[in-house]
Amino acid sequence: MGDGPADAKVVFLGEAPGRFEEKEGKPFVGLAGKFLTKQLHQVGLDRKEVYITNIVKCRPPDNRKPKPEEVEECLPILEEELRLIRPKVVVLLGDTAVKALLDKNYKVGKDHGRLIAKGGHMFLITAHPSAAMRFKKMRALFEADMGVLKELLQLP
Ligand code: URA
Repeated sequence: MGDGPADAKVVFLGEAPGRFEEKEGKPFVGLAGKFLTKQLHQVGLDRKEVYITNIVKCRPPDNRKPKPEEVEECLPILEEELRLIRPKVVVLLGDTAVKALLDKNYKVGKDHGRLIAKGGHMFLITAHPSAAMRFKKMRALFEADMGVLKELLQLP
């Protein structure tokens, strides 16, 4: 399930829990989570004030990507999370989140940093933290997108 306050202004949406997340029952508690927490600090956000969740709520076997039917099955839970929290912005972390919430024509590579309004929510497209922490180019675009987030949060 997700982790964070019910009145969070920002929701971060990943793909699926990994080994550590499954063990702790919380999203993004492994290396990618540590990276994300650090990046949040860079833009003046504390992990405790944002809500972090995943599209798929169980760890897919062997860490594979979630199947479309698994995404389909779990989406109503996420929709309910968003309906209750009503964040200012939902940050889509990586292509799985982007495809599930927007559509398959959007890609992190070409659309990162864009704000898309859909279904009563505002979405910001960016890279997955595990890609951003591994690849220089992805890290640069992730940092730039966190700048977009910071500016958005400063708006009244
Ligand atoms: N990757 C994700 O997409 N979600 C997590 O919770 C951890 C790693």
